[in-house]
Amino acid sequence: MSEAKSTKRVLVTGSSRGLGRAMALEFGRRGYSVAVHYVRSQASAEEVADRIRGAGGEARVFEGDVADADTCQALVKEVIAEFGGLDVLVNNAGITRDTLALRMREEDWRAVIDTNLSSAFFLAKAALRGMLRQNHGRIINISSVGGLIGNVGQANYVAAKAGIIGLTKVLAREYAARGVTVNAVAPGFIESDMTAGLADELKGRYLEQIPAGRFGRPYEVAEAVVFLASEGAAYINGQTLTIDGGMVMS
Ligand code: NAP
Repeated sequence: MSEAKSTKRVLVTGSSRGLGRAMALEFGRRGYSVAVHYVRSQASAEEVADRIRGAGGEARVFEGDVADADTCQALVKEVIAEFGGLDVLVNNAGITRDTLALRMREEDWRAVIDTNLSSAFFLAKAALRGMLRQNHGRIINISSVGGLIGNVGQANYVAAKAGIIGLTKVLAREYAARGVTVNAVAPGFIESDMTAGLADELKGRYLEQIPAGRFGRPYEVAEAVVFLASEGAAYINGQTLTIDGGMVMS
């Protein structure tokens, strides 16, 4: 669907690489002012912002560890101060620390829950105040098909991604009447740094479960996220959209 250029402002957490990078570029292409965000990869984040600006868009780079609640609040505050407001929040930043549940250390459990789930709550909380004031907002949370069907070796990650879906439904119900929609997307296996390191044998097993017969690409998630952020998606709320080549069908 083609859409007129937007004048809206978006924060995509973890947009220095992978899916978030593709989302930031796509929002930039559509005319959004884009807050590109990273925690370690400053050069990559700068490159994303440069590309957006090079194509005539507006982008600024922000740093911050979203595993920390105060940092989440400060990040949203900084973006609003820079852009004069925030219309779209994409909770994308995430990590994995995979191992079987019995071997999973407390620090690996907590790091994944804090980075992938608690961050979405604290960032949404910080962004919602302004969205309610302007009677308009979009929050898009990045879950995973793992959050729907589970996955061996990912107790922390799957719990976080299932939690994201629950959080999405609660926020969607709480703020729907104020012009704010909250949706989730659940990607399947998408080519990025997160999946690049997986063993070929494991990749082969995933591939067998994907009717499309291939892995997804970051832009294929970005396109759906940009649509959920658009005016055309105003009546879609509390949903989880799987983007997985048909791997999980409900
Ligand atoms: P990725 O390539 O590893 O990129 C992760 C991004 O998150 C980077 O920009 C990274 O910033 C940022 N990040 C990580 N920890 C952070 C922290 N504590 N604070 C702030 N930013 C942090 O991952 P990806 O594959 O693009 O995944 C993006 C999202 O999609 C994640 O939520 C992931 O769970 C989800 N997902 C991915 C797949 C897949 O197949 N790839 C499937 C389902 C869901 P730095 O560059 O600074 O480290």
